[in-house]
Amino acid sequence: MTSLFFQISSIFYIGLIMIIYFSKKKINTLENRIYRTLIIDVFITLIIDMASVYFGIVYKDSILTNPLAKLYLVAIVSWIILFTYYIIVISSRKNKGHIEINEDENISYFNRIFLILLAVFFGSSLLIFLVPLEVYSDGKMMYTFGPSATISYVIAGMCIILWILILIRNRKKLENKKYWPVYAFILLATIAVSIQFNFPDILLVTSVAAFITFLTYFTIENPDLKMIEQLNVAKEQGEKANRAKTEFLSNMSHEIRTPLNAIVGFSQALKEEELPNSAIEEVEDIITSSNNLLEIVNGILDISKIEANKLEIVNTEYSSKKLMKEVISLIQARIGDKPLEFRTYIDEDIPSVLYGDHVRIKQIIVNLLTNAVKYTKEGHIDFKVNTVIQEDICRMIISVEDTGIGIKEEDMNKLFTKFERFELEKNITTEGTGLGLAITKSLVELMNGKIVVQSIYQKGSKFTVAIDQKIVQKDISELEQELNTEENQIFIAEGSKVLVVDDNKINLKVAARLLKDYQVDITLAISGQECIDKVLNGEEYDLILMDDMMPKMTGTQTLQNLKNIIGFQTPVIALTANAITGMRVKYMKAGFNDYLAKPIDRNTLNIILSKYLKKKTEEVIKDVFIENNEEPNLDLSILKKQGIDVEHGLELLGDEETYIMTLEDFLNESKTRLPKIEEYRIQKDMANYAILVHAMKSDSKYLGFMKLADLSYQHELASKENNNAFVEEHYDELMNEVGTILTIVKNFLGK
Ligand code: ADP
Repeated sequence: MTSLFFQISSIFYIGLIMIIYFSKKKINTLENRIYRTLIIDVFITLIIDMASVYFGIVYKDSILTNPLAKLYLVAIVSWIILFTYYIIVISSRKNKGHIEINEDENISYFNRIFLILLAVFFGSSLLIFLVPLEVYSDGKMMYTFGPSATISYVIAGMCIILWILILIRNRKKLENKKYWPVYAFILLATIAVSIQFNFPDILLVTSVAAFITFLTYFTIENPDLKMIEQLNVAKEQGEKANRAKTEFLSNMSHEIRTPLNAIVGFSQALKEEELPNSAIEEVEDIITSSNNLLEIVNGILDISKIEANKLEIVNTEYSSKKLMKEVISLIQARIGDKPLEFRTYIDEDIPSVLYGDHVRIKQIIVNLLTNAVKYTKEGHIDFKVNTVIQEDICRMIISVEDTGIGIKEEDMNKLFTKFERFELEKNITTEGTGLGLAITKSLVELMNGKIVVQSIYQKGSKFTVAIDQKIVQKDISELEQELNTEENQIFIAEGSKVLVVDDNKINLKVAARLLKDYQVDITLAISGQECIDKVLNGEEYDLILMDDMMPKMTGTQTLQNLKNIIGFQTPVIALTANAITGMRVKYMKAGFNDYLAKPIDRNTLNIILSKYLKKKTEEVIKDVFIENNEEPNLDLSILKKQGIDVEHGLELLGDEETYIMTLEDFLNESKTRLPKIEEYRIQKDMANYAILVHAMKSDSKYLGFMKLADLSYQHELASKENNNAFVEEHYDELMNEVGTILTIVKNFLGK
């Protein structure tokens, strides 16, 4: 029975593989189904092979010997054909190395192949049974030959040729290492078939088929490997979906910013109007809510930038003290009347001017401090900035410690994960998205910094951030001064001409409304072309605010065209909802003078307008007080003729000389007093307004400017009663009178 040696050992390991294979969880794909059939097929073939050999040797003349030998031939042909089908299927996979979860999309193609192979199988089986088969047996060994055996050799040979053709056709796909075993199998099968053909007594084919089936398990078909592969595909699909979601959120956020621009802009403008008390509160609520919404939208934009690796750190020189001051006053406002003590310590030695991304540093600190305010009911918040200086690097160690609700130990490692929020039952009223800390951590890491958190549940938390910033080796005081002198208040730029270009009518309205407060002369253009036409028509502007995203001609393209116009020198500010960090640099590079994000923030607008329009205003003021070289004619009767009660003045001041000196004082005083009166009126600072109009009333009385004294007195009374409406209503009247008086005085003094 030595002839059965191969089969016995084969049946042993195929049995083993079957146990392992069927005990594992598998994914139901066509490949898996074929392989499953292959194992069963090879197992049955082995049994038939053994039975036929046993019968052939022991019961050489039994009537069963010949049919059994033919059955074996049919079985081995079935395995060869099935393996052919397997090779066709695995080489038709769409992606090399990847299994399509819905791989059965080629199902009709595979069905056709299957039917053809099935027909071949039945045809050859029929032939095998119909044509004669010779069995040689000498009691020790047996083998078969004759037409029936030849048919099976022909089928095997054809299949092997087919495998080779398939492999040649799909060689690119099969370059993947995973398919190397297939080449080996073909070689192995070819050798086995030719040995069997030449030495029919060596019963090798079934064992080789079993061996190939066995090897296939470890190389291609291992359910574990397949499962991992499937998981990878699923993971990739999941990540793809996640990316699509982030992209969607980011696009949505961008879209939301545009209408938000109108809400923020109009409500800010509305706040500056005369409103009944109830309406003021409501407008303030609108502003707070839209600012919250803006914060959320910005958070989503930030996180999507971070995930797409698109968030850039934009380094510039900045004043460290100013940054801290801004943060502190912002948080003080956020604390409002919450019973929280806000204690701050900023290291005295912090270099005045640092180089880094101050916008992002501010965002980090504000995020941590805002959380401290949000999650602390009472007690205190300690904000400390310590520094360690090494050569030209300043390590800022920023800590924010609170006596708030604290964080449970099990939540600590999820703290920096986006959209994670804890203690929601308790926190139901605390607003938040769970994005703040995820963004904070990413920002810190983008700056090569570190963030750590310590917290005791229900006692408090401490967040510490360490970030290195370059120390600027410049004339610090001068630069710091420069950085500190950004104006941040509405001012009057009467006479300045500003052109706003935007394709969205509402945006134009918002910009026009915001600009109205500066009393500038506003022109609107609905397209880049209209802007160019206006400039070509010779209209001159002091400043152009230009939206970038416009159809037909973008803001950037319009700017390029403007620059080609000879003599064009107007500063142009990019106005866009593209509020992504790095945009400023992009727009400056494109040739814009500055960048203003929508929704337009009043403070930023103040800073930008003061930078480009204030000079102009100063010129206008100078104009009013321009030196006049005419010879002075100090005849007081001129003043009398112009309605000034000089007598009254002389009565109070004693003599002409004192009167004239007082006139000069009045003129000089007015140069500083008038802009201040204007400023206090805009700020609705009635207390200070009252002080100045009171002074103007007194001066006017002494000098006999009775109408001006009277008007000033009315304004004084109104402002003392905080009657802003009166002041607004009669302001022009007061200013007209001041103007008249000042012109008279100037002419009189020859100034
Ligand atoms: P948000 O505050 O918008 O929910 P964050 O990412 O800033 O999102 O914070 C995530 C969560 O971490 C918060 O919801 C809160 O549960 C917890 N947390 C953050 N800071 C503190 C803190 N200072 N004290 C207690 N819990 C905090």
